[in-house]
Amino acid sequence: MLSDVKAIVEAQRDIFGGLPYEHYTFILHLSDRGTGGLEHLNSTTCGTQRFAFKSRKKYRRVLQLISHEFFHLWNVKRIHPDVLGPFDYNREVYTRLLWAMEGFTDYFATLSLRHASLFSSKEYLDNIADNIKAYEKKPGRLVQSLSESSFDTWIKLYKPDADSPNRTISYYLKGDLVGTCLDLEIRHRTNNQYGLDEVLRRLYDRYGAHGTGFPESVYQETIEEVTVSSFEEFFHNYIDGVTPVPFDHFLRYAGLSLERKYKNPDFDEEHDEKKAERSEPTAWLGLDTVVRDGHKLTVQYVYTSGPALGQLNPDDQLLAINGFEVATDEQLKERIAVDARVGDTVQVAVFRRGELMTTSVTLAAAPEDEVKVVPVTNPTVEQKVLYESWLKAPWPGENV
Ligand SMILES: [Zn+2]
Repeated sequence: MLSDVKAIVEAQRDIFGGLPYEHYTFILHLSDRGTGGLEHLNSTTCGTQRFAFKSRKKYRRVLQLISHEFFHLWNVKRIHPDVLGPFDYNREVYTRLLWAMEGFTDYFATLSLRHASLFSSKEYLDNIADNIKAYEKKPGRLVQSLSESSFDTWIKLYKPDADSPNRTISYYLKGDLVGTCLDLEIRHRTNNQYGLDEVLRRLYDRYGAHGTGFPESVYQETIEEVTVSSFEEFFHNYIDGVTPVPFDHFLRYAGLSLERKYKNPDFDEEHDEKKAERSEPTAWLGLDTVVRDGHKLTVQYVYTSGPALGQLNPDDQLLAINGFEVATDEQLKERIAVDARVGDTVQVAVFRRGELMTTSVTLAAAPEDEVKVVPVTNPTVEQKVLYESWLKAPWPGENV
């Protein structure tokens, strides 16, 4: 782990051309709780699960956490809008730039893991695909913009309720994805001379290195200065607006495209690879569940984009589908995703505030459940060059 953290420090040092401290301390708490961290000027406090080091999947999260908190020593602790420093912990502080503070920190955290060879190119692209999947699942992406999400964090992101996925979008998640698109757009417009890192370097040199914050409008101005072009439309659509982000358009600058497929819900890993996918969409109720009191399979969210809207409510305890018990997520998946088809109507029995009720839901198609970022078949020289300088990795050919 020490050598991995060293590689993270070196990869991020190379982005800024030096380290702005004499000594930096990583404090790592291991427990049985979740994952999280807090950035300070010359240190960070990170918490992670005690047994997160042997599984590659969990260890990737540990590396992302450490990389994220370390990157904050520049982005947020030194590069920040003026309201964020010196920080007043006694009251709410309002900024429309948390997508750049937290989302871009997430973006550079994972990108520097790629640069440090701690993430393979495939792991890096799979991480983008997972984020796209999570973003597209949330109807709130069409309701709340990134700048609103930042400004309203005190009453929304940190005060989630049963309707949060329908009304809000995380500035971490979408900010990370918009950072990806912005980096690719800047590289494309400047013939790969500059990337998003140049924007951060200029903000650091002009403000952060002198211990001052900047007015919020400076962010867009600095991007426009780096590219000598307008980003009015980009900000209007993807930062201050809710226009769906056309990921394919931006990924194509790097010779990549999005591939969307339907997963076979009955797929058994020991079977033939081809059975992992199927041509028809999976049937979908349009809700997420949570287990309450140790055994009650309960509706947590009902998506406004799904067919259960108006039929089932958050906090309904699921009991049966077509008369057969559903006590676990596995049983629910079997009755809906495996057994049923899009267009089937199912009878759903629930306890609603202790009262037995039955309602019918006509199943819809699940949003594409398999999204992959893959290389295009005939890349141009420009696409290959951009890909290689962006990820500091050779063009993958057909192998990703
Ligand atoms: Zn953070």
